[in-house]
Amino acid sequence: MLARGTSSRPGPWRAWPFQVEILDSIHDPNCSGLVIQFPSQCLGKSELVNNVIGHSIDCDSGGILMTLPNWSSAENWSRTKLAPMLSSTVTIRDLIRTTQSKKDSGGTTILLKTWATGFLAIAGANSPSGLAMFSCRLCCFDEIDRFPRSIPGSSEGDPIAVGLRRSETFADAFSIMTSSPTERGVSRIEYEYSLTDQRKWFVACPACSHEFVMLWHHVVWDKGPAGEHLARTARIECPECHSRHDDAARAEMVRRGRWIATGLEFRRRRGYWGNCLMTLLPPKRSYSGHLERLVEEFLAAKHGGVETMRTFINTQLAETFEEESERPVPAEILYNRAREAGEYAQSDFPEKDIPAGVLMLSCGCDIQHDRVELEVLGLGGGFESWSIDYRVLLGSLEEADFRRELSQFLLRQYRHPSGHSLGLAITLVDSGDKPQSVYQLIKETAPRPVYASKGFGSFNLPAINPSRRVPRLLNLNVSVFKAQLYARLGLVAPGQGGYCHFPSDRSLSYYEQLVSERLVKRVNRGLVAKVFELMEGRRNESLDARVMAQAGAEFLRPDFEAIKRRLGIEGAAPTKQRRARPASFWGPRGIADV
Ligand SMILES: [Zn+2]
Repeated sequence: MLARGTSSRPGPWRAWPFQVEILDSIHDPNCSGLVIQFPSQCLGKSELVNNVIGHSIDCDSGGILMTLPNWSSAENWSRTKLAPMLSSTVTIRDLIRTTQSKKDSGGTTILLKTWATGFLAIAGANSPSGLAMFSCRLCCFDEIDRFPRSIPGSSEGDPIAVGLRRSETFADAFSIMTSSPTERGVSRIEYEYSLTDQRKWFVACPACSHEFVMLWHHVVWDKGPAGEHLARTARIECPECHSRHDDAARAEMVRRGRWIATGLEFRRRRGYWGNCLMTLLPPKRSYSGHLERLVEEFLAAKHGGVETMRTFINTQLAETFEEESERPVPAEILYNRAREAGEYAQSDFPEKDIPAGVLMLSCGCDIQHDRVELEVLGLGGGFESWSIDYRVLLGSLEEADFRRELSQFLLRQYRHPSGHSLGLAITLVDSGDKPQSVYQLIKETAPRPVYASKGFGSFNLPAINPSRRVPRLLNLNVSVFKAQLYARLGLVAPGQGGYCHFPSDRSLSYYEQLVSERLVKRVNRGLVAKVFELMEGRRNESLDARVMAQAGAEFLRPDFEAIKRRLGIEGAAPTKQRRARPASFWGPRGIADV
């Protein structure tokens, strides 16, 4: 039973045709587990899992373990998905003890539900205790691409392996893993799916009966006379006879489809892969169908740059995304591109205005024992960026005079064509080697927004993690920012989200350092992880400075539209000139009006 408010299809569960076989697998003695690689929303992935859990509570005995990426998502799932299902399904509601009576409160909490013949434990993959406590017949793992590679603060390792160990003693143990995928070669669900029989939903063309799996490149649409995209004309094109089918025909094809295993060998675990083209939800208001909506979303994602495209490919198409960063763009190409474009020169500043697209400035400082290498980066809408300044200041941060010199530099103001001046909205200083002198600098420059930063590398953890114990310390996931930078360096059209502009007078050695690292795969217990590695004989100071400048800007989460209004750009009346307000110690003030 799907409770009103938790599902777009409330009421008793009615399985879609492609869900029937998945549910039947659970009682098939030849099948010991499911791997479901589905998009985030539109194929009812979480409803499937909830249904299995509800059914298991009702009909089977034994423990159930439901693992989500972390504690808060576990709690959230229990409150918003499980509780409504339990309370609206009469047969299981009465089974589960409630906490109504305080004396009986041992039975049921948000993360543990018990009944006469079993229990349901809900755990976060980041917690060792939650996973190791119970013996369970049915283990469910939801959104496994967001699981940590190993349980933090524990020697037990991979949370999925730990969870599965809980079910080893059961002859009829069953596991379900679901997720939308992430990056190719790193995605856990892709890896697990590759170990199954790899079933895909084949549909038949109504015109020629050719059976195929609907992929994004089968979606076609027309363009208008001015080259504009006409999303309303979106159709599915048969790869065999090239006849085109509208959204209603697509839905009918999906209803009549069937799962076909594409993996070669017989496997005990079954894998199911599907994408948003299989959805049977009613089309959204104001759209002629899902195809029109998806084409609009695709075009918006394409316009938004690499990041939005990655989201579209992962969450809608349920395909892994290949970051085009493995071989960064060669330094010579970047060097020649900037010289030929001749947009601006570093030597223009401070006399001339900075490029009009710059809406905020951030700075990253790489600290060496005898010098500081720093980059001033200008950012605009969609995180399009302009490298404004790169310089080496000779001296040691341990000397007070040198800290004063650096501090003076960080006070620089740049003229913007709007007539305003921009100061540095944030500065990140690498504190890996000399934390004490960096904290001294932060103290001496307070209340200016200067932060210490410490780098680590992992593709499964958040990009920026502010320290809870040390104020003004940001732990930076440099792998994420390096991958992002290398993808962005590959963009060729200015105006695209994330495009990187460089001044025409930047040296070749700057670019050589910028692209000095490469992504390599490391295999650890059968799992592939990707790490950045410095190429032989190269230096990487400018890469580190750039990553910090970029990360600082992302940390602030700037509202570029609001900044535009403040700068009086795009028709808005220029804001009144204000006296500079001192920034709060706790937060940068963004733009300094002078
Ligand atoms: Zn056909």
